[in-house]
Amino acid sequence: MNARPVILAEGANHDLPSRIDRAAALWLRRYPVQLSLDRPVVSFTFDDVPDSAIINGARILEQQGCRGTFYLAGGLAGGTFGPYNFFVPSDVPYLLDRGHEVGCHTFSHPVVQTLDARRLAEEFDRNRQWLTAVDPRAEPVSFAYPYGAVGFSQKALTARRFANSRGVRHGLNTGKADRAQLLAVQLYDCRLDEKGLDEVIGEAVRSNAWLVFYTHDVQEGPSEHGCSPRLLSQAVERVLAAGCTVAPMREAMAIAGGTEKPH
Ligand SMILES: [Zn+2]
Repeated sequence: MNARPVILAEGANHDLPSRIDRAAALWLRRYPVQLSLDRPVVSFTFDDVPDSAIINGARILEQQGCRGTFYLAGGLAGGTFGPYNFFVPSDVPYLLDRGHEVGCHTFSHPVVQTLDARRLAEEFDRNRQWLTAVDPRAEPVSFAYPYGAVGFSQKALTARRFANSRGVRHGLNTGKADRAQLLAVQLYDCRLDEKGLDEVIGEAVRSNAWLVFYTHDVQEGPSEHGCSPRLLSQAVERVLAAGCTVAPMREAMAIAGGTEKPH
């Protein structure tokens, strides 16, 4: 039985003003891009990056000829959370050498919604400096909001800094997608069984969507925010069998041909 595991998932504030601010960011401050896909695209993404996401997650993707996006917060490097070890600095060149993408997840994993512009910019700058000091190739263009929580003001700054940003709101990206708050689907054993997996892949195929999976640890007996090697393997096998292209976020954005529209 795991101790209360990964990861930092309860960070969003649930008071009414915070919820209204998040809704305003989601609905009123969109950065629409018109997706143009001949076939569905699927991205596998890993937040916080416990070592099992590399040991098992990267390996499983590679075995199927696929690559993923790993959102790193430099402040978590070499640290632990309960029974979990996070990534270490040498994982950055390891992932890049193998063709994976390294994305930004802030430096210290704060609730972005609580930060003013100066502190948010510091988080972006510090993480970029950390990543590129470890490996100059690790210039991040993709971002994931810690806890998925972003408000109206922070979203604009994030959109200026990153080509694409992923939240945690459930859904498929189709038509005019919001490049500053892309929808995603939890790849968690406790949320997605085989039937659910087939349903979401089927819907992605029917709608020619960009489907973004996200998870944390990848291990036997995963945390409530993680998946088993079996579920990840099944997901990869099934999206490939369904004719989907698998690509990291940066590449998927290019494949989707997203061209920014005025608001
Ligand atoms: Zn996180």
